[in-house]
Amino acid sequence: MVNQCAGLGLLVEQMEAAGQPEAAAALKASHEKCLADHPLVEVPKSESPSLVIRTWNFGSALIRWGGAGFPTRSKREISKLLKICQSCEHLKENVCTKCGCQCNEKEQVMNKLALKTEHCPEKKW
Ligand code: SF4
Repeated sequence: MVNQCAGLGLLVEQMEAAGQPEAAAALKASHEKCLADHPLVEVPKSESPSLVIRTWNFGSALIRWGGAGFPTRSKREISKLLKICQSCEHLKENVCTKCGCQCNEKEQVMNKLALKTEHCPEKKW
């Protein structure tokens, strides 16, 4: 079970679990006023981060990537990281269930492995 805001559906604990403790703390702090009106409720923990968390993670990744000048990984680097993900228990249908990001062989923005500023939330790469 995780604590979810009944008003906005923000799963702060999932953000922490997804390796975003600072973002979770910031969100929790910015959400404090609302907590009086919308108390936290317990909901079953799902296997993958919610859409809110995945959107937050993707937005954060784009900001990091843009801030660093949009560096990308080569096809060879992507393949090497993908092998690690493919042997990881958290990869389900090319999506990392820890962060909710896509992990595949494509050289595109939607692929976490292609963005040089992204790292494994479990510190496997
Ligand atoms: S990014 Fe890390 S945790 Fe996620 S599937 Fe790849 S190796 Fe596993």
